[in-house]
Amino acid sequence: MKTILTDPFLPVDEDGFYGRFGGAFIPEILHSNIEKLKEAYARYADDAEFNEEYEQLLSDYVGRPTPLYHARRLSETYGANIYLKREDLCHTGAHKINNAIGSVLLAKRMGKTRIIAETGAGQHGVAVATVCALMGLECVIYMGATDVERQRPNVERIKMLGAEVRPVTSGNMTLKDATNEAIRDWCCNPVDTFYVIGSTVGPHPYPMMVARFQSVISREIKRQLKEQTGRETPDYVVACIGGGSNAAGAFYHFLKEPDVRLIAVEAAGLGVDTNESAATIRLGSEGIIHGSRTLVMQTDDGQITEPYSISAGLDYPGVGPLHAYLAQSGRAEVAAATDSEALEAAQILTLTEGIIPALESAHALAILNQKRFRPEDVVVINVSGRGDKDMQTYMKHNKN
Ligand SMILES: *Cc1c(COP(=O)(O)O)cnc(C)c1O
Repeated sequence: MKTILTDPFLPVDEDGFYGRFGGAFIPEILHSNIEKLKEAYARYADDAEFNEEYEQLLSDYVGRPTPLYHARRLSETYGANIYLKREDLCHTGAHKINNAIGSVLLAKRMGKTRIIAETGAGQHGVAVATVCALMGLECVIYMGATDVERQRPNVERIKMLGAEVRPVTSGNMTLKDATNEAIRDWCCNPVDTFYVIGSTVGPHPYPMMVARFQSVISREIKRQLKEQTGRETPDYVVACIGGGSNAAGAFYHFLKEPDVRLIAVEAAGLGVDTNESAATIRLGSEGIIHGSRTLVMQTDDGQITEPYSISAGLDYPGVGPLHAYLAQSGRAEVAAATDSEALEAAQILTLTEGIIPALESAHALAILNQKRFRPEDVVVINVSGRGDKDMQTYMKHNKN
């Protein structure tokens, strides 16, 4: 029997479609893996004991709630009330651990002993390896060989955490190829292995599940904003978007609040029209990638094109189906920030507030130089991660 899964906050139907996007376009061999995952998720998503353990780890291990910080000097600079959601203060330095904990807990409930994951910049790999060390599970991280070279410090962290890094040498040897390899592994090891996807991508129920595990971000924003300003809803929520998980978490509890404007900022790379870009929603067309129908950067004959961004966490050639739908339906506004706009935004945040953001998050912050807000607007920007991993890039481009 087929397990039917939906979500009260997400615009998703019983087959995992967000409008035209989403679904589960998977080979026959994966059907029973996906079915078992759906059964487990249906059983535990609202289970009191499961959620108690998840919440406990979010608070005592990850350090949640992360602050919602009223950035006064930034607000003065831009003439609006700017609040920063500090996901950069999570253990391991980004929001990805929220999903890693939820997913690995689910894997344990399913009796799985081996965890696999793909990673691009290495942040998801670090988060999953961390949670596997915490829970004493075997962990294999697939990473494109090009990224293994580019992301040395994260590769070393993953190894120190006791996980195995498997370099992938197919295709362009980046995130897309690592994801293909992880899926292949899952096909071969259906009994003992759980695949933890790092964003709101992949076949149903992954996008829904990852959004739910990240939804703690907007749940906290609502409560914290109420405490600080007396109102629960901001005028704007802004987040950067690679596959879409930090944005999904920041938007989740506001999706059905029409007064809250949602802005997703893609990575424009050298510029949307330069062929060196990762602005998937702007440049993509409908296609299927990693088991989901969504917007994909591809040639006219359907070859997936390699995206480019200065930020390794944003150069995925697809985008989560939720975001493809939010953009197409007009619920979310989509902006794009170039490499140099992101670098500038990172510098401004650092010098006005003493916070060095991840390059990914800097794309969200770049909205401040693109859009005029009214003085009374309350603008929440999700700072998805911290900039330690990007120091080399910042140093190289810093003209001081
Ligand atoms: C991975 C990553 C992103 C992009 O992934 P999403 O799923 O779109 O959130 C953004 N920011 C940071 C800090 C990341 O590590």
